[in-house]
Formats: sequence, structure tokens, C-alpha cells
Amino acid sequence: MTVDLDAVAENWRTLARHAPGAECAAVVKADAYGLGASEVGPALSRAGCRVFFVASPREGIELRQSLGEAPAEILVLDGEVEGESERYDRHALTPVLGTLEGVAIWSRHARDRGGRRAALMLDTGMTRLGLGASDTATLSAEPDRLSAIDLAYAMSHLACADTPAHPLNARQKAAFDDMRARLPAAPASFANSAGIFLGPDFHYGTVRPGAALYGLSVVSGRRNGMRRVVRLQARILQTRFVDSETPVGYGADRLIAAGSTLATIAMGYADGLPRALGDSGSGRIAGRPVPLVGRVSMDLATLDVTGIAPDLVRPGRAVDLIGDGHDADALAAEAGTIGYEILARIGGRVRRVYRGGGNGTRE
Ligand SMILES: *Cc1c(COP(=O)(O)O)cnc(C)c1O
Repeated sequence: MTVDLDAVAENWRTLARHAPGAECAAVVKADAYGLGASEVGPALSRAGCRVFFVASPREGIELRQSLGEAPAEILVLDGEVEGESERYDRHALTPVLGTLEGVAIWSRHARDRGGRRAALMLDTGMTRLGLGASDTATLSAEPDRLSAIDLAYAMSHLACADTPAHPLNARQKAAFDDMRARLPAAPASFANSAGIFLGPDFHYGTVRPGAALYGLSVVSGRRNGMRRVVRLQARILQTRFVDSETPVGYGADRLIAAGSTLATIAMGYADGLPRALGDSGSGRIAGRPVPLVGRVSMDLATLDVTGIAPDLVRPGRAVDLIGDGHDADALAAEAGTIGYEILARIGGRVRRVYRGGGNGTRE
């Protein structure tokens, strides 16, 4: 897997330009969507990013370590603060609180010994994480519950931003404005990548793109002008000419016609190549599509490379699974999933090579 850090930085600048009045943060949860937060984080920091979102305190600690002394606010989306206050303080992490219990724990902590900054996640219609309407009513009726906390952001998250015409977008925005009006004033953050493309009404003070930074397209049916960041290649281990019809792979349920050439690659579902790609996915060799045939195994998969120049399919040569003309979204479509899942599941066994980011090429 090759990760182009200059492309990540350029995508961040492009997104910032799409939301001119707002600060552009970066969501680097799940190890920067599988790309490697300890490389992506510093590259974004060098590009000027100062606000980062991670999923858990542990991800926050790792990110803080990789950012070193660089100025950065790191916000933890899972909002779990019970028993975690010391870790938040020690690594200068900011929790995103989504329950009244969390607010109470953090308030107590703030009164006892510092650690006052926190964001609030408001549930405006996604029904996943966040304070609901009755919770914000409670906070508004009992202002003491928040008085010790320095509010970094009032946030909410859009469920359908990838579908601009979806009526829930406007309903969530109205609910967000209504809930914020009941709470102490705080900077607002609402838009994920797709939310940025809903236009200025959705930008507020800080936008929070993740997927678009990594080159994924985020609005259904539309390219978003981001640069491709990831190339995923697998090595050919063995190539064979099929001289009589033969089954291939587990289950022996896919028959290969005589006269075909097959190549077996060193990549399987343990590396994040979805098993659902068996008989439906494809790779590229020198830009030409080569279909995956038979079932994807744990460490191996087989491609029909009939008609490709023999020199290009020798053992040791590479097949592109994600690359130009066949990006993560295209591979995802073949597997019946989304590009987010493809990137986030690329396995730990896959060697990461980083390009750019001011540091040359390294692993
Ligand atoms: C993951 C996430 C984002 C980023 O979403 P993208 O669609 O990847 O841009 C933003 N905000 C929250 C709360 C998230 O969980």
C-alpha cells in the first residue's frame, strides 16, 4: 500500500477552500481510515491542520505522540470519560461528551483539577451518539451542569450528507440550531466531508472531513475532485496456463476454461481483500482489468490474466487492486460495500510505503 501524503495535504487544502469561512479539522480515527495516523497526522499538521478527531483515547494518545510538540487539539469522539480523566489530561485530549453522565463526570473532574475543555455531541436525528432534545433541555434548565466546562465545540453529525436532496439534512440543521440556542455559546461543528459539499449553511465554525482527505468520493454518484491517495498492490506468487477445464479455489465452484492463464497473488481477506470480491472483483495490470476468479482465500486470491503479456504476469510482478482507473470506491462497488470500509480494513500485514509529506519515501 502506497500512501501519498502530499495528496492528503492537498485534499485538506482543497476542502479548506470549499469552506472558506471555517476552520478545517481532520478526522483521523481508525488509524486515519487504515492509512496510518502516525504518518497522516504529522503530514496534515505540517499542512496547517490544528484540530484532529479520533475515535478513542488510545488513538488520541498515539496521535499526540506522533505529533510531538506540534500545536494540536485532539478530540475523542467516543466520549467515554469514566475512569479516563487522567489519561485525557496527561495527553491533552479533549472528550466529545454525548451523555449527561459524561457531562457530570467531566464537570466533577473540571471542578477538582483542571481538564475543563470538552465538546458536546448533539443528536439531531442520526440516533447514534449524542445528547438528545430532553438532555439539552436539562442542561438548559440546570446551567450548573456545564458551568465548570470550557466548551470547545457544540457538534452534531449528519446521517445523509452524501445525498444532498435528502430531507433529513435540513431537519438536522434546524434541530442543531435549536439545540445550540438552548446551550451556552460555543463554536459549532457540523459537517463531515459530504457535509462540506452541502454548502456554506452547513459549514459553521469548523468542518470535520475524513473520507475526502483520503481521496474517497463522498457524494453519491459524483466525483469530488479529490486526489487519489492510496495505491494497493499485490505480488504475483505463481502463474499457470490452464490446458484443460479446471476448478479454482475453495469450493471448486468456479470452472476455468482451457486456454486461460491464472495468476495467484499474495493477498487475501486477512489483508482486507473482501471475500465478497470472489468472482466479482478485479485488479489491473498495466491498466488492463483482470478479474478475480474463484473464492478469495485468507492469504491468497486468483486472477484470470489471460491475454496479458507474459512478462507482466511473471511471479514477483505486481497487480493493482486500488490505483488509477480503479480506486477504492470502484473496488468497494465490486464488493458491495463503500470505500471507507475497504480502506479501514486493509490489514496490518500489508506493508505501508509513504511518499511525500516533506520526508521522501519511506516505510
Ligand atoms: C467519521 C466522522 C466524521 C468524518 O466523516 P467523513 O464522512 O469520513 O468525512 C466526522 N464526524 C464524526 C462525528 C465522525 O464520526
